[in-house]
Amino acid sequence: MTEKILVTGGAGFIGSHTTLALLEVGLEVVVLDNLSNSSDIALRRVEDICGKSLTFIEGDIRNSQILDDLFNEHRISAVLHFAGLKAVGQSVRMPLNYYDNNVVGSISLFNAMARAGVFNLVFSSSATVYGEPTQMPISEDFPTGIPTNPYGRSKLMVEDVLRDLSLSDPRWSVGLLRYFNPVGAHESGIIGEDPNGIPNNLLPYVSQVAIGKLKHLSVFGNDYPTPDGTGVRDYIHVQDLADGHLCALQKILQTNGVNIWNLGTGIGYSVLEIIRAFEEASGRAVPYQVVERRSGDIAQCWAAPEKATRELGWSAKRNLLDMMTDTWRWQLGNPQGYGH
Ligand code: NAD
Ligand code: UDP
Repeated sequence: MTEKILVTGGAGFIGSHTTLALLEVGLEVVVLDNLSNSSDIALRRVEDICGKSLTFIEGDIRNSQILDDLFNEHRISAVLHFAGLKAVGQSVRMPLNYYDNNVVGSISLFNAMARAGVFNLVFSSSATVYGEPTQMPISEDFPTGIPTNPYGRSKLMVEDVLRDLSLSDPRWSVGLLRYFNPVGAHESGIIGEDPNGIPNNLLPYVSQVAIGKLKHLSVFGNDYPTPDGTGVRDYIHVQDLADGHLCALQKILQTNGVNIWNLGTGIGYSVLEIIRAFEEASGRAVPYQVVERRSGDIAQCWAAPEKATRELGWSAKRNLLDMMTDTWRWQLGNPQGYGH
């Protein structure tokens, strides 16, 4: 039986781009996704782009039976674990949902992996685990902070579970990938980010304003201690993230223990810089109003990505214009996303 990679949450934004990258290098992929925040159309499009097929199982990571059946039926060599809920505001309103999906769901997955003798895992963590760092750029040896919301805390909890698990059993090899701000879309414009309802994140909001679905952007605060007063973030192209997963996968197959890698570009851009870059890439105006700061937001956040370069041979290749151009191409070609 050929060895395969299990991708949980593979129908989602980052999971679909990474699934494509896995297929493109000749790996076989099984996707497990409950489609709670995605569409299986994304997976069909992934297959169309690369001309290869994948196995899709619609199901929940909290369902042990589905997991046991999956591991029995497929010889899995490693798991890329994207499945989870990610909306910060919603996590404040529905904490139990978030802890159940993200923490209980992850534990259910790790238990099933252990039962099946699969110990190689790459986990989608987030820069949010650093809390509010006092220094920039952020390197992996910075202490984790206190995330300001249940979503962030759920990521930190899963990181802690994995650290304890690896101490208890040396067979585990875990890559914790702390993403900065994933944006962009595949350069074909055929797959991309398809948020439910009104977007929470900056880039999807900006692109829906540019296409006329939303009237104007609210800029959350212009009195931060940053060069133009608006929040600064490290935006990273989703294709670069996908490549980072391939490199991390290779690495964890050769090592043991828990390894942490920041996936960012190392460059911070302000909200106003993003607006200007998007206007340039799209040729459309992005009207905005400055409003109050959004609660829980930090002033600035960007990565020191050198550890990933040193240890994985990975670095982000796409620049701000690529991120904006690819987001716009996806938005123009798919004004209703995947149409669900
Ligand atoms: P996404 O919502 O597009 O993808 C997550 C996928 O997981 C969806 O397809 C959803 O249907 C699926 N899913 C959710 N709960 C599930 C469950 N219980 N069982 C099976 N499938 C389930 O999100 P994304 O942006 O692709 O993020 C992927 C991962 O990366 C998430 O864990 C997220 O927290 C993390 N992350 C994302 C960002 C970001 O800004 N996008 C930043 C840092 C970390
Ligand atoms: N932001 C904004 N208006 C929006 C959404 C976001 O001004 O409608 C700002 C936000 O305050 C932050 C940056 O854009 O400075 C990135 O926010 P996003 O929600 O995309 O990611 P975060 O870094 O908060 O996870």
